[in-house]
Amino acid sequence: MARVSEEFLLLQSGYLFPEVARRIRAWQEKNPGEDVLRLSIGNTTEAITPVIAEAMHHEIDLLSDRKTYTGYGDEQGNTELREAIAAHYRNEYGVDLPVSSFFISDGAKSDAANIQSIFSRSSIPAVQDPSYPVYVDSSVAGGHTGCYDTKREAYNGIVYMPSDAASGFVQTPPKEHADIIYLCFPNNPTGAVATKEQLKAFVDYAHREKAVIIFDSAYSDYISTPGIPHSIYEIEGAEDCAIEIGSFSKNAGFTGVRLGWSIVPEALESDNAPRGTFHRIWNRRQCTFFNGASNISQAGGLAALSGAGRKECMSLVNYYKGNAAIIAEGIKSLGMESYGGVDSPYIWLRCPDGLSSWEFFDLLLEKAHVAVTPGSGFGHCGEGFVRISSYGHREDIERAVEALKEKL
Ligand code: PLP
Repeated sequence: MARVSEEFLLLQSGYLFPEVARRIRAWQEKNPGEDVLRLSIGNTTEAITPVIAEAMHHEIDLLSDRKTYTGYGDEQGNTELREAIAAHYRNEYGVDLPVSSFFISDGAKSDAANIQSIFSRSSIPAVQDPSYPVYVDSSVAGGHTGCYDTKREAYNGIVYMPSDAASGFVQTPPKEHADIIYLCFPNNPTGAVATKEQLKAFVDYAHREKAVIIFDSAYSDYISTPGIPHSIYEIEGAEDCAIEIGSFSKNAGFTGVRLGWSIVPEALESDNAPRGTFHRIWNRRQCTFFNGASNISQAGGLAALSGAGRKECMSLVNYYKGNAAIIAEGIKSLGMESYGGVDSPYIWLRCPDGLSSWEFFDLLLEKAHVAVTPGSGFGHCGEGFVRISSYGHREDIERAVEALKEKL
């Protein structure tokens, strides 16, 4: 008799966003004809920009002619695109890594989850609290944890790295040993960014503990504060102990187009195999289980990295950052306590009057018809906060902020 994966069975049901959607639907059924102003999911809303759209149209023309048609590409991605990403790291961050370190994918979420498979099942994961839920769930599904402890409301076998307002929601390395450390800066959900010194503490920890950092830089283009690193490889020595995951979703608007990359340097060390083995195994994994990202997406990605493409992407990023500034200003005028929203599309708002995340979610929906995301869905330390997303049309953001100002 076939058996379902025991690891998947350990996953707690009620993933955050379906529950948010369920409550919005229930509210709409009770309030027919009323609009919900959505500041909840981190989904982009603005059109693909001209240079990128043109490149994808052109790729479709090539595919439509048998003389220029192409089928499968390299599993690791188009060489030209890998070279362009490597050049982007070199020119914008001063990070010089061989092109062979870069692997093109269909997005950062898949990479963040799939990368688990190249680690021994005995590896102990560490996650930021609060954090993007994929890191925890993929650690559980990948067999790196024990079962869920309902008393602690946490998985056995995961090291949770707590954070609070006093630390600016930037964690410090754990006291315990961990083997895989997930870090995300600019952070989803808190919008926090880490300084070089703060990241260096994690690189030092990784060297000391022979651990590997998985650095999710999906929002790096939102950083405008001088001196804040965009890549973990801006920290000396990170090449030996860090993997980085990037995305075209939040700067080029590729949430639906799908394109990302991972960086697994040949210098990356492990405890039980020669240097370079993680790189070789990731390459092996991609060649075996993945047939490459769409050639249309890759053409778009290449255009996004051209001079004109970069300008367009940054104007898209600045549009969402403009939304974030409008939200932050509105919240400030209400005298509420908030974080993030400067180097990030997310604003992290403390619930007033000691309300829990879900209580405040319900109150915002009921009173202002505004939907946000409860912070508790991202981990224990998220309780008492909500995440406000700046992804939306400007006019909708303005309406939502007006509603908050009027009804709260
Ligand atoms: N990483 C973080 C931190 C995210 O917030 C998201 C999406 O919201 C992703 C990765 C997913 O990126 P992609 O669309 O490239 O899969």
